[in-house]
Amino acid sequence: MASACERAGREADSVRLLLATKTVASDRIRVAIEAGETLLGENRIQEFAAKNPELSDLKYERHFIGHLQTNKIKDILKYDVKCIQSLDSAELMHKLDQRLQAEGRSLDIMVQVNTSFEASKYGLNPDEVPAFLKELNKCDTLKLKGFMTIGLFDSDTEAVRRSYTLLRELRDMAISEGIVSPESKELSMGMSADLETAIEEGATIVRVGSAIFGTRTSNR
Ligand SMILES: *Cc1c(COP(=O)(O)O)cnc(C)c1O
Repeated sequence: MASACERAGREADSVRLLLATKTVASDRIRVAIEAGETLLGENRIQEFAAKNPELSDLKYERHFIGHLQTNKIKDILKYDVKCIQSLDSAELMHKLDQRLQAEGRSLDIMVQVNTSFEASKYGLNPDEVPAFLKELNKCDTLKLKGFMTIGLFDSDTEAVRRSYTLLRELRDMAISEGIVSPESKELSMGMSADLETAIEEGATIVRVGSAIFGTRTSNR
């Protein structure tokens, strides 16, 4: 991360490392937090539920980075989640807003965009983003921190880069056209295989799993 920042002429502290801890057991996560890591992301509610109590004595920031079904909204809000990075539909936006209103609280969120145009991936189509953001502005409980994407998975670096350039351009457009506040500037993009490219394109959070914890035996 530091060398990618240097190459891109960025300060090393301008990018945060998020540990993507799916399938990683609590005792191994504990080692990472005790070594100084402060930001974790889980993909599944069940994993939050299982690991949270085992790590409750530690101080760290929890983000949700997986697809959230609307019938799981109540559950996720129990787990002290600081940010849901994967807001990917109008239905989820409205139901989350309703629930947060009922609970009298607000939540940090990021809008997930499908920048690789793969049908298998969640996220808004880039074309839908401006109208979505205008709806989001009406939801007082949802505090937009920025944008998240899962880039194209490909060995061709330049093809991967296009995903990340696109997310950056969407953010810049939304800010410069006054649709969102300049504060909504986070770009959560880049994983083990391509975090350098993402940093060169402006990532402020990279989400890393296997490069830290080793290869997962299953993707769940
Ligand atoms: C698993 C996962 C990551 C990390 O992937 P690695 O290739 O293991 O670094 C990042 N983001 C999301 C949304 C993930 O599900």
